[in-house]
Formats: sequence, structure tokens, C-alpha cells
Amino acid sequence: MRQYKKVETTELDKVFCNKCGKEILREADFLHVEKRWGYFSGKDNEVHEFDLCEECYDAWISDFSIPVEKK
Ligand SMILES: [Zn+2]
Repeated sequence: MRQYKKVETTELDKVFCNKCGKEILREADFLHVEKRWGYFSGKDNEVHEFDLCEECYDAWISDFSIPVEKK
């Protein structure tokens, strides 16, 4: 005999770009950033998390003074 209990689960449904607000389709690649700021930052242990679609990523890095390294 087996007894089962109901377990509530959370799974990723959709991803939205934090910059433009558009939904990022499942088959598309995107940038995910999760950063815990240290004690000596102005954010004292806050965790910041965001996602960017490829178009917004390209626009963001085009503003960099030093280009990203491509391998
Ligand atoms: Zn975007």
C-alpha cells in the first residue's frame, strides 16, 4: 500500500525581460543575473536578480567602454 501526500511545487512558467518587459520565449537565450551585494557595498547583503533578452543585452553592452570578451 502506498500513501501519497499533496506537495505544492513551484516551477518556472514565463521569463520577462526586466529592461523592455517583453516575454522571453522558451527557445530564446537570455541573460540571467543574480548578485548578492557585500557588506561593504551600499546595498549590504541585498540580492539583486534580473533577466535581459538578447536585444536588450546587446544594447546594454554596446555602451561599455571596454567591449565584452568573446571566446
Ligand atoms: Zn528586453
